Amino acid sequence: MEVGGMCEHKVSLFENVIKQMEVARPYLPNVEDDLFEVLKYPKETLIMHLSVRMDDGKVKVFSAYRSHHNNALGPYKGGVRYHPQVTLDDVMALSVLMTWKCAVVGLPYGGGKGGIACNPKEMSQGELERLSRAYALAVSRFVGVDYDIPAPDVNTNPQIMAWFLDTYEKVKGWSEPGVYTGKPMVLGGSEGRKDATSRGGAYVTREAMKVFGIKEGATCAIQGFGNVGSFAHKLYKELLGLKVIAVSDIGGGVYNPNGFDHDKLLKVLNETGTVANYPDGDKISNEELLELNVDILVPAAIENVITEENAPRIKAKLISELANGPVTPEADKILFDKGVICLPDILTNAGGVTVSYFEWIQNRTGHYWPIQKIYEELDRMMTNAFLAVYEVHRKYNIDMRTAAYVLAIGKVAEATKVRGIWP
Ligand code: GLU
Repeated sequence: MEVGGMCEHKVSLFENVIKQMEVARPYLPNVEDDLFEVLKYPKETLIMHLSVRMDDGKVKVFSAYRSHHNNALGPYKGGVRYHPQVTLDDVMALSVLMTWKCAVVGLPYGGGKGGIACNPKEMSQGELERLSRAYALAVSRFVGVDYDIPAPDVNTNPQIMAWFLDTYEKVKGWSEPGVYTGKPMVLGGSEGRKDATSRGGAYVTREAMKVFGIKEGATCAIQGFGNVGSFAHKLYKELLGLKVIAVSDIGGGVYNPNGFDHDKLLKVLNETGTVANYPDGDKISNEELLELNVDILVPAAIENVITEENAPRIKAKLISELANGPVTPEADKILFDKGVICLPDILTNAGGVTVSYFEWIQNRTGHYWPIQKIYEELDRMMTNAFLAVYEVHRKYNIDMRTAAYVLAIGKVAEATKVRGIWP
């Protein structure tokens, strides 16, 4: 076990996020240096070591985290990821990204993030439940409906949110469904939360295709086939009319210029554990998928997959970032110089937290919305966010990520400043 979770061999995601902020710095002349410094660091982080009784009778210790970055615009908000390599550095960085993401879309939230270093694929349901409840108990004084509202992220799902919520409510002794979002429908989950990240990404990509001149029928490759990647395969085809010619997951990928049948992909994934075993097509690696000659590339897996090493070989015209942090700052520069448009994570994948926000509103009012209203509101918010970022991009002739950072940091800085630094 790595105490504190610091892991030296990985690229620091936190350092990358700080670098991205620094790139936006010159376009924020009204933000004082000392205030800018304040905005870099999480306000507070909780490091936990959770003891869980495993099925073999032994007790295992798991490192776990929750980071609160900034709450000037509202309560901390962000998912909890379960991943063997998750570190404090990742969770801190991801909490910073959540602050900017919520600000870009205009949600009344700040940024938070959580994680447990574990491999859920090697755990039984009972072990997962005990681990999840241990986490929820440990963070019960660190979350709250007006304080910090966690949600799903990589490898977490509505069932895990149900265990989190149940533990929280049993500790507190009252009902508080809005403290966790991404819940099962029966516990107050929202219509449309499952595919919200991919749908929001599709709306943003649709607007980008209009202004950057990419037409229906354009080709697309998707890296990652978890919740986000699989819905992207469905929705980028259905809503954008794209031709998805390659998909992949951790087990490898498959290429077919004629595309894939969605249900068959899911079946192959369920039966064999990877989409790479899809029978009609050529096997390709994740690395090859990223470098394919496609119009639109959709990284929908994990961070740091497009780096200075492979960026020169990227052939896509547009990158639609559904993962958090898939492109490093060094790669960003190379892509911009090559004329590749990168739609940044803090804009493109904000649909998930936006529908979480709808869920939170519904829980608090007790009035539940029909799916059509979710789609309409999500479309309106994502389209407005895209147009706002696009305007900054045009104004300063900067890449879309830097434009999104300028917008978000400007907003959070203003809120932080008007509140004043106290105590
Ligand atoms: N984990 C998602 C994200 O990174 C959703 C967070 C939420 O719904 O609060 O945006």
